[in-house]
Amino acid sequence: MSALLIANGHVVDPAGKVDGIADVLVENGVIARVGKNLKPKSAQVVNAKGKLVTPGLVDLHVHLREPGREDKETIETGLRAALAGGITSVVSMPNTTPETDNQTVVEFQLSKARKLGLARLFVAGRITKGGQRIAEMWELKNTGAVAVTDDGHDVDDACLLLHSLEWAKTFDIPLITHAEIASLSHGGVMHEGKVSQLLGLQGQSANTEVLAIQKSIALAEEVGARLHIAHVTTARGVDEIRRAQKRGVRVTAEVTPQHVSLTHEECLGWNTSAKMHPPLREEEDVRAMHDALRDGTLTAIATDHAPHLVSEKLLPFQIAPVGTVGLETSFAVVNTYLIRKKVLPLKLAIERMTSGPASALGLPAGTLRPGAAADISIFDPDIRWIVDPWTFQSKGRNSVFAGKTLYGKATDVFVGGVPKLRDGVVL
Ligand SMILES: [Zn+2]
Repeated sequence: MSALLIANGHVVDPAGKVDGIADVLVENGVIARVGKNLKPKSAQVVNAKGKLVTPGLVDLHVHLREPGREDKETIETGLRAALAGGITSVVSMPNTTPETDNQTVVEFQLSKARKLGLARLFVAGRITKGGQRIAEMWELKNTGAVAVTDDGHDVDDACLLLHSLEWAKTFDIPLITHAEIASLSHGGVMHEGKVSQLLGLQGQSANTEVLAIQKSIALAEEVGARLHIAHVTTARGVDEIRRAQKRGVRVTAEVTPQHVSLTHEECLGWNTSAKMHPPLREEEDVRAMHDALRDGTLTAIATDHAPHLVSEKLLPFQIAPVGTVGLETSFAVVNTYLIRKKVLPLKLAIERMTSGPASALGLPAGTLRPGAAADISIFDPDIRWIVDPWTFQSKGRNSVFAGKTLYGKATDVFVGGVPKLRDGVVL
């Protein structure tokens, strides 16, 4: 029997109701006990004094680009980047080439990740084939897909979305929407407001998102399907979700680290690293995200990690691709902008990065309760660093946080009790 003791750390396991100095005992890859002064007969000991010990973080929204765009990211580089960020479970988005709309691609991704043995990979399949007809949802689920989404685009056709929700309900698989009314966002390259006017760029109004959220909630409510709304960014959008949850609609939602910390002003200077869909919004929207994280309207923080080539992000703002990488900065951004600034209490912030996202999609992850797989992350919350994307494990250098000073880094990560990151180095 192999045993591992992570001793004297500040253990925060919201699902297990732990928040204090404690030891974590792992036996045979599984959490055996969490408590004070554990004294196993023999165990490898990791001293976590002065550090934060959490369940491995869970990221519901990651673009791994494989198959098809291995020049931007591979399953290997993406999962290594996750480990470097203290993330042990990622859900990959299906906008690959070919699309993840059939069981062959799901099988390929899962088997590749299994062989790599890095962070755990959960796969999301497409809702539709090309936005035209419903994908093979039953086969996707049977092959291991944990959700369906057309992320990158909304399902514009309301009737197709309605039928997709009916199928998703029948097969009991969550449906994730990228809330964007295409006819409204068309041509808009950033948030519509003062900054877009100043830069002379066409913007996307908040209604682009708000109307799409209303549409998907109304249809999911009619059907009774499980709906998850990706990367919410607008105060009014989050209000719609709050009201729906109060009525009993089965809807959950996530927000990205960049949308809880930055505004559209990042786009000044035609900064293409700040170009993303949905776009960075205004101060009042950021504050609304904070309120929604506090009151539980938003239960997940997910990165929308979107690696692109350096050459593409050097294109003019209007035509540069959308997205920022995020796996290696998400904990530090949440720590710097939410925990240290007392926007969110530590325990609640960790909940939004562990059990919150896990339960949104029903993933077996995000807790240190006895019997759970020993996916554990250890962070030094006080390490001060300046983000240099050239040091990333990810192939993507397009970080909206490049050059910014952040606090907190993962030092050690275990997946199933096996060390995968030691002293900040991916093993
Ligand atoms: Zn999206």
